[in-house]
Amino acid sequence: MHVIDILGAKGRDVMFLPADANILDATVLLAAKRIGAVVVKDASGGIAGILSERDVIRAIATENVRALAQPVATYMTRQVATCTEADSVEALMEMMTQGRFRHVPVVDGAGQLCGIISIGDVVKTHVEETTREASNLREFIAAAG
Ligand code: AMP
Repeated sequence: MHVIDILGAKGRDVMFLPADANILDATVLLAAKRIGAVVVKDASGGIAGILSERDVIRAIATENVRALAQPVATYMTRQVATCTEADSVEALMEMMTQGRFRHVPVVDGAGQLCGIISIGDVVKTHVEETTREASNLREFIAAAG
């Protein structure tokens, strides 16, 4: 399975905020959409960073409630690891494990954002694939016996 298969099933909507949105805006979006991370875009629409719920926790732990008024740019991660639709689910699992993050934005050939994959999407796909393989093997063994 590849990123393109996951996006085909879940869709290509990506929640994003401008870099001058504040942490409170981010918490409202994360809660309303029931997601764990939001992409931060720069003025030209490129990826400026990613802000996850972990960054919000770090912001509050650092600055208490004052953190809510800070721009997301203060706490986002700027070096964003991305993938393409052609990447395999295994490659994504490796990337998330090595990088210790649970979200990977998907970019097209022009570097434009065209989806986002969460660790939940990866686990769901992996479980489905493993279940299908096991079922195929059982059918094969039953037919052979
Ligand atoms: P997460 O596990 O996705 O909640 O994120 C944990 C930390 O990694 C946070 O500081 C995020 O800003 C950062 N992060 C999340 N996704 C990525 C990514 N694709 N590339 C780089 N850093 C990321």
